Amino acid sequence: MKEENCIFCKIANGEIPSKTIYEDDTFRVILDLGPATRGHALILPKEHYANLYELPEDTAGAAMKLAKKMAERMRDALGCQGLNLVQNNGDLAGQTVFHFHMHIIPRYSADGQKIGWKPGAVTQEELEEIKNSIVG
Ligand code: 5GP
Ligand code: ZN
Repeated sequence: MKEENCIFCKIANGEIPSKTIYEDDTFRVILDLGPATRGHALILPKEHYANLYELPEDTAGAAMKLAKKMAERMRDALGCQGLNLVQNNGDLAGQTVFHFHMHIIPRYSADGQKIGWKPGAVTQEELEEIKNSIVG
C-alpha cells in the first residue's frame, strides 16, 4: 500500500529523487535533507506504514538487520566514532513524517549534537507497579 500524499512513499518508490545509499525490494535508504550530522540516513520501507505499531513484524526484523548492515558500512566509509539509531512514533515523540522510518545518525567528536534525555527518579514501588501494568 502506498499513501497518496505521503512524501516518503514517493521517495521510497523513486517518484521523488533522493540521495539513495541502499535499495532492495523492501527498503530504500536515503540521506536526510536536514542532517543532524554528516551522513545522517533514513531507512524507509517502500510500503506505507505510519509507525512502528503498523509495521509488520517481519518488516521490523528486516529493518533492524538492514540498520546493522548500514551502520557497519557507514562506520567504515565515514569514520564516525559512534552512531545512534533513532525511531520516533507520534508527534509527541518528535515524529514529523508519518511513514515509518529509522534514523541512522553517525556521531563524531564535537559534532555538537546531543541525543538523549534527562534521567528522572523512580521508586521500587513505582517500578513494580509499571512492570505489573505491562506484564499483566
Ligand atoms: P522524524 O522527525 O519524522 O523522525 O524525521 C523526519 C526526517 O525526515 C527529518 O530528519 C527530516 O530532515 C527528514 N526529511 C523530511 N523531508 C525530507 C525529504 O523530502 N527528503 C529527505 N531526504 N529527508 C527529509
Ligand atoms: Zn508513506
